[in-house]
Amino acid sequence: MAPVPVQPLYPAVRAGSEAPGPDATLADVNNTEIQGRVDELLALGDVPIVQVGHPVLRRTADRYDGQLNEAALKGLLLLMRRVMHAAPGVGLAAPQIGIPLQLAVLEDQFSVAAPVAEARSREPLDYLEVLNPRYEADGTESAAFFEGCLSFPGYQAVVDRPFRVRAAYETPDGNAVRAGFSGWQARIFQHETDHLAGTIYLDKAYPRSLCSNAEYALHWSQPTVERARAALRF
Ligand code: ZN
Repeated sequence: MAPVPVQPLYPAVRAGSEAPGPDATLADVNNTEIQGRVDELLALGDVPIVQVGHPVLRRTADRYDGQLNEAALKGLLLLMRRVMHAAPGVGLAAPQIGIPLQLAVLEDQFSVAAPVAEARSREPLDYLEVLNPRYEADGTESAAFFEGCLSFPGYQAVVDRPFRVRAAYETPDGNAVRAGFSGWQARIFQHETDHLAGTIYLDKAYPRSLCSNAEYALHWSQPTVERARAALRF
């Protein structure tokens, strides 16, 4: 997930990110092949983020069930964190680097202006590695804000999401965790978990809210989306 900049700047597409993505045949890899693919990525050390249109972003990723050896799993998660930081972003799902496994990394340490942080309930999120994540809405409260995606850079759109979720996931050590998230943390958790089900935020966004980052910065970076909602009529 992209961090939704409040300043009128946004990183250009990373050098090399227009390189062809991983082969679509990865949709049906066996364990040996996926271990080999991860080893290749780890040897490369840096990888482009898969962009919308690649089928790996549209399939349900496989449950993580020990397909990788311990070193490869740890290495892959570290690589994902590095790619997320470099982008920069606040979350990255394994399919976004071409690995169709239910793994994601989340971290939000961006400094955000106080009125924005307050309106969006945006609190820092410590680095988190999640395997086989799930969530369900906790209550009926929802929140609508702009969000972006590293697989569709340069744009943002408003997604109305449950404000609070009950989450379940596993750690790399194999521990099962149940946790509650709210506000922006819940948004990040939902966005990345959705990726693992082949869902991109645009599927859930108000189509009329779609903005280039430049237009967002010019017009709609207020703490809430009310002005955008009235003017863009979504
Ligand atoms: Zn995303």
